[in-house]
Amino acid sequence: MDLSAPAYRTTVLSRIWLNEETFELTCTRPQGLQFLAGQYVALLAQGEEREYTLLSPPDALSLRFLIKKVTGGQLSVALANIAPGGVLAMGKPKGYLTYRPTDRPVYFVATGVGIAPFVAMAADGVRGFHLLHGARTGAGLFYRQELAAAAGQYIPCLSGKDPSMAALPGLYHGYVTEYLQENLKGGPFDFYLCGSRAMIRDMTHFLDQHHPDTRIYSEAYS
Ligand SMILES: Cc1cc2nc3c(=O)[nH]c(=O)nc-3n(C[C@H](O)[C@H](O)[C@H](O)COP(=O)(O)OP(=O)(O)OC[C@H]3O[C@@H](n4cnc5c(N)ncnc54)[C@H](O)[C@@H]3O)c2cc1C
Repeated sequence: MDLSAPAYRTTVLSRIWLNEETFELTCTRPQGLQFLAGQYVALLAQGEEREYTLLSPPDALSLRFLIKKVTGGQLSVALANIAPGGVLAMGKPKGYLTYRPTDRPVYFVATGVGIAPFVAMAADGVRGFHLLHGARTGAGLFYRQELAAAAGQYIPCLSGKDPSMAALPGLYHGYVTEYLQENLKGGPFDFYLCGSRAMIRDMTHFLDQHHPDTRIYSEAYS
């Protein structure tokens, strides 16, 4: 981003904590901003610039972001502390993790806050997809109810122990990759992957080996 002339400026309206390390930040929508569900923007504060996916659908009046506060992280910690009324510089929307209509079965696979592009797509009207969301505990299954309502199949995958989630429909104990290694049949598919680099690497390797005609779109956050 050109620091002397950022594409946009946005004002923080509110912050809601969804669990002890993750919050939703709502900001004003700059005039003239256009984007596709699933795209991201660069945010800049205190001289640091990082990318964050727009959680809101393209017709939203304000912009929401789902942000994990990384221990020792420069910008995520700054965003966790910025007061309402604070102004952030913002870059132009970018990215290709956007939904492409298809006759193939569609799988959205996310770890942690990597669920953000799929929340935007669901809010934009995408339906009928299979969604796997990996988290340590139930507190990390952000937007579970609205996603389960939009999805044809919603599979929460918990890698840690969480007795409070024992009765959750479709719950799988383990990683998203393990679920698919055990259960994915047929194909070809369209896969959309978002979140940790390790998940994207393992999923890509698995799909290339066992479902080679599958199309894969991905975005690594860390
Ligand atoms: C295209 C794109 C979209 C993204 N969208 C989002 C989003 O919607 N929400 C979101 O929360 N993040 C998102 N990220 C990640 C985000 O851009 C930052 O990398 C993240 O917030 C950490 O920045 P920081 O300045 O706080 O940490 P830094 O100061 O950059 O890093 C501090 C330390 O933390 C480590 N670290 C960095 N990220 C993580 C992590 N996620 N988990 C654990 N350790 C980490 C670093 O290796 C480093 O050692 C996205 C990244 C990309 C590339």
